[in-house]
Amino acid sequence: MERKSAWETYNEAQLTELEKLSQEYREFLDHGKTERECVDWIADLLETEGYQELEAVIEKGGKLKTGDKVYSIWMNKSIVLFQLGRKSMSEGLNILGAHIDSPRLDVKQNPLYEDGGFAYLDTHYYGGVKKYQWVALPLALHGVVVKKDGTIIELNIGEDEDDPVFFISDLLIHLAGEQLEKKAAKVIEGEALDLIVGNKPIVINADSEKTASKDEEKNDSKAKEVVKAGILDILKNNYDIEEEDFLSAELEIVPAGKAREAGFDRSMILAYGQDDRVCAYTSLRAMLDLKETDRTVCCILVDKEEVGSVGATGMQSHFFENVVAELMNVCGEYSELNVRRCLARSCMLSSDVSAGFDPSYASCFEKKNTAFLGKGMVFNKFTGARGKSGSNDANAEYIAHIRNIFDEKGISYQTAELGKVDVGGGGTIAYILALYGMNVIDSGVAVLNMHAPWEATSKADIYEAYRGYMAFAEGASL
Ligand code: MN
Ligand code: MN
Repeated sequence: MERKSAWETYNEAQLTELEKLSQEYREFLDHGKTERECVDWIADLLETEGYQELEAVIEKGGKLKTGDKVYSIWMNKSIVLFQLGRKSMSEGLNILGAHIDSPRLDVKQNPLYEDGGFAYLDTHYYGGVKKYQWVALPLALHGVVVKKDGTIIELNIGEDEDDPVFFISDLLIHLAGEQLEKKAAKVIEGEALDLIVGNKPIVINADSEKTASKDEEKNDSKAKEVVKAGILDILKNNYDIEEEDFLSAELEIVPAGKAREAGFDRSMILAYGQDDRVCAYTSLRAMLDLKETDRTVCCILVDKEEVGSVGATGMQSHFFENVVAELMNVCGEYSELNVRRCLARSCMLSSDVSAGFDPSYASCFEKKNTAFLGKGMVFNKFTGARGKSGSNDANAEYIAHIRNIFDEKGISYQTAELGKVDVGGGGTIAYILALYGMNVIDSGVAVLNMHAPWEATSKADIYEAYRGYMAFAEGASL
């Protein structure tokens, strides 16, 4: 079952559409480097696309009808949108799901210190990272600092060409003999991922004399931390942030720079955080481009997948189920039983990136059951590790239904496993939705260098995913 490259199937009109989509996708990536930024950007977009916030509809005592569009945000990090279909919700939804958190370095709660004339922010990595990939490259700082009075200070430093960037140092090759003998997992250890944020001592001159006298009582050790003091001065003056405010901050360190086209042929996209914003964006775009549908369509974009979908904003939270109940209530069809029926009768594409075949590491893949960049959207009947441990294993009946939809619309797709049996594994959010008894399958886009600071995807796969999500949203009904 050799699959051909999706590129070979396109006409001029499709190529134009593909380029437009990939351009919009890159804009999304550039504006959404954290889950919060993604949610903000999407909410702004939804307001221009005729969506109303569900909570506002409820407050007004409003009613909803076929074709109406609503969304709901949870803790600024997860978002779910619905477009009401002609059928009642208790007949089931067609759900597109993906996650909007990505591996990164989080700033610790007590992060700022000085050593050897440098000011540092100590970090704790989030999600699975090869730590050695995060040194010696320009990094940006994104996130929020919440003051005690609830004021939220948003930070985004390192993306603008005029912004400073930050970095983590690596040992020069000349002295690295011993380091290079270490295992890759130990070459750079977690506690070594400390971000350099400054090197200039605070200058106490006539202008700042009042600051100096005010701080007179502070002890000697403080007086020695003159670089750290300089950073605190900048944080205070530019952002109104005090050292204690780090306690209630969520600051994420990510690679600095924009998403780029890759290759002479510009066939790929190289960018940070494509896991899983590539599926999130294409799911969202498909949803926004839908005409009226029979079944209600839902797109859920969640946080915390990279750490096991836990927490109030992860897929395991009851947030999604609660919103479904609220929505059914507004539609006049709420009952405990109807919510259960709705969820059990739903069909879902649980999307996440898939490991693309990498010829440089061919031995980790089994070629017949591997996703190739450019061969279309990927379906993983199951994921998991070893004996499919922890996997949602989609029903054959459901897969047959999806094959039918995709073949009818001429959408390129391929099936895959995450690498060779016994080599490794991974999970997604599919098993959580499967708890309701609904039909769920893992699907998505193949990625090269997954979880690296810069991940690569094929524009053709992005386009096929978008088309696939659209066909599924319109046509799934099982
Ligand atoms: Mn991941
Ligand atoms: Mn993922």
